[in-house]
Amino acid sequence: MGRKLLLENINVPGINSFEVYRKHGGYRAVEKALKTMSTEDVVEEVKKSGLRGRGGAGFPTGMKWSFLAKPEGKPRYLVCNADESEPGTFKDRYLMTHIPHLLIEGMIVASYALGAKTSYIYVRGEMMPQIRILERAIAEAKAEGFLGKNILGTGYDLELYVQPGGGAYICGEETALIESLEGKRGNPRIKPPFPAISGLYNCPTVVNNVESIAAVVPIINDGAEEYAKLGIGRSTGTKLISASGNIKNPGVYEIELGVPVEEFIYSDEYCGGMANGKRLKAVVAGGSSVPILPANLILKLTTGENRLMSYESLAEGAFASGTMMGSGGFVVFDEDQCIVRNTWNFSRFYHHESCGQCSPCREGTGWMEKVLHRLEYGHGKLSDLDLLVDVAKKIEGNTICPLGDAAAWPVASAIRHFRDEFEWHVSHAEEAMGRNYGLAHY
Ligand code: NAD
Ligand code: SF4
Repeated sequence: MGRKLLLENINVPGINSFEVYRKHGGYRAVEKALKTMSTEDVVEEVKKSGLRGRGGAGFPTGMKWSFLAKPEGKPRYLVCNADESEPGTFKDRYLMTHIPHLLIEGMIVASYALGAKTSYIYVRGEMMPQIRILERAIAEAKAEGFLGKNILGTGYDLELYVQPGGGAYICGEETALIESLEGKRGNPRIKPPFPAISGLYNCPTVVNNVESIAAVVPIINDGAEEYAKLGIGRSTGTKLISASGNIKNPGVYEIELGVPVEEFIYSDEYCGGMANGKRLKAVVAGGSSVPILPANLILKLTTGENRLMSYESLAEGAFASGTMMGSGGFVVFDEDQCIVRNTWNFSRFYHHESCGQCSPCREGTGWMEKVLHRLEYGHGKLSDLDLLVDVAKKIEGNTICPLGDAAAWPVASAIRHFRDEFEWHVSHAEEAMGRNYGLAHY
C-alpha cells in the first residue's frame, strides 16, 4: 500500500467534524506554525518540500508564495481555487466533502505564512453540499479559537469566507476567479501582472488549488524533508488522482508520485484493470486540457520501461509544453471508444466554455467543434484533418488564458495519434456515423 498523507483518515467515522478531526491529530500544523515558526520559516518549508501546484499547472507552490509582493499599507490575500471543473476531475470535491478540516487547517497555515488576514475559498457554484460542509467546518474551527481574532493567543487574526462560484468553467482560471470574486463577470485578465503582484482588488494575492493547500498540513507536521522523500525527481510527495472511464474501480486515489502508469491502471489497489475484460485503447492522464495518448505511448517509454505517474515522465513524447499530470483527472478509454466522437465531445465543451474575449479561442473552438461534428456524422473530408490541425496551431499560444491551448491540444494530439481512425470516419462515413467504433491502437 502506498503512503497516504491526505486521505489517511478519510474512512474514520465522523472525520468531517472538528472533534474527530482534532482527535486524529488535526490542527497540529496550525499550532506548530503559529506558535513555533516565523512566516518566513513556513514559506521556506513549503519551498523545500518541492510541492508543485495540484490544480494542473504544476508551478512550485513555495516559489509562488515567495513572489508575493509586500507593499506598505496594502492587504495580502490567499484565495483557494475550489472551482474544480476540469472534465474527469473530482478530487477536490472528494476532499472537501469528506475531510473539510484538512483544507481549513491548510488555509490557516498558508494565510499565516503569506500575512493574509482575510482569505477566501472560491467553490464551484454547483457544489452546494460542499459549500455548506465548508461553512460548517469554518464555524466549528472559529468556535474552537482556530479562526477569528488572536488565534490560539498568538496575536494572529484571520477571517475565512466561502464564496460560491459564478457557474462557468472559466471562473476556475485564477484571474477570472479574481474578477468573479470582485463581483464582475469572470473574464481572464492578461498576465503579467501575476496575481502575486496585483490580484484581488489589485492587491498581492496567492491563488492555490484545494489539494495544494491541504498538502501544506503534512509538510508542516512532518517537515519538508520527509515530504520530499516521497515521489520521484522534481515530482515530490503524493497526488490525488480522479480515475474514471472504462476501469473496474473508478474513484479518487492518493498515489505516491512515480507509480508506474501500468500499475495504476491494472493493480487492485487503484483502478483494478479494464472493465469487462476489454483492451486499453487510450488515456487522458490529466483532465481534458492535456493531450490524449494511445495505449502504447502511455504504457511504455521508448526504452521499454513503464511510464511513471509524475509531472516529467508523462510529459515526454507528448507535447513540448505543459505537464501531462494536469489536474490528475485520469480518464481511461477501452477499445470500443471512438476517438473522433470523444474529441468532438471535448471540443463542444471548450466552445461552450470559451469566454469569447480573444478571437482565436472564440472562433477557433467553434470551427473545431463544427468540423469534428461533421466528421463524426459522416459529412467530413480528408482535408478536414489538416484544417483541424491548422486551426489548433493558430489557437495555441495566441490567447489570453490557457483555455485556448487546452482546447487545441486534445484535437491536435487526437489527430496525431489516431489519424487512421479519423480517416476511417471519412472513408466509411455511413458505418461510422454517430456510433461508437474504435480501431486497434494497442
Ligand atoms: P499558469 O502556468 O499560467 O500559472 C501557474 C501558476 O503560477 C499561477 O498561479 C500563476 O499566477 C503562477 N505564476 C506563473 N509564473 C509566475 C511568475 N513569473 N510570477 C508569479 N506567479 C507566477 O497556469 P494556470 O492558468 O494557473 O493553470 C493552467 C492549468 O490549470 C492547466 O494545466 C489545466 O490543466 C488546469 N485546470 C485545472 C482545472 C481544475 O478543475 N482543476 C480546471 C481548468 C484548468
Ligand atoms: Fe476567454 Fe478563450 Fe481568451 Fe481564455 S483563451 S480569455 S477563455 S476567449
